Amino acid sequence: MRKKIIGLYPGSFDPVTNGHLDISFRASKLCDILYVAVVTNPKKQSFFSLEDRIEFLKRNFQGKSHIRVSSFNGLLVNYAKKIKASIIFRGLRAVSDFEYEFQMALINRTLFQKIETVFLVPSEKYVFLSSSAVKEVAQLGGNIKNFVPPKIVQYIKKKTKNTVSVTKPLHF
Ligand code: ADP
Repeated sequence: MRKKIIGLYPGSFDPVTNGHLDISFRASKLCDILYVAVVTNPKKQSFFSLEDRIEFLKRNFQGKSHIRVSSFNGLLVNYAKKIKASIIFRGLRAVSDFEYEFQMALINRTLFQKIETVFLVPSEKYVFLSSSAVKEVAQLGGNIKNFVPPKIVQYIKKKTKNTVSVTKPLHF
């Protein structure tokens, strides 16, 4: 029997956007099991709690048993080894993503030779989208329905109401 290909799509998902979902579904077609894993980094403050970020993802993968939502802390390659992943998926939006992603892919491969990083390009509808932009628009009272899955729109609106921006102002 063929060995199962396990993929890992790590990210902050603070919160998950339509861009992240687009990449997840593309990635899930390229492996047998896909872990969409929320990074818990004590140095990087997140707006939404880990529980919220996991819940937002889970709501969107209901009924998709080959997509598993998880979380990890510490080195990504250690988590990849633990779940026996052979591919790390990352999304590439624009040239601005490239330098950081390229460095990370090479560092991860240096740390763990057996891991490959695969970059996926989202639908052109989502190339402009980021979690920071969603938070900024929501905090300013803008409509986020085209940016995040319908299942979490209300929750994000409620959560961002009466909060101040945690990100660099984007001037929407
Ligand atoms: P991180 O803090 O690890 O960059 P993010 O949640 O911001 O976490 O992003 C996770 C991954 O998803 C990254 O590879 C990022 O480039 C990608 N990504 C984020 N938004 C989009 C989008 N709109 N389209 C495609 N890829 C995206």
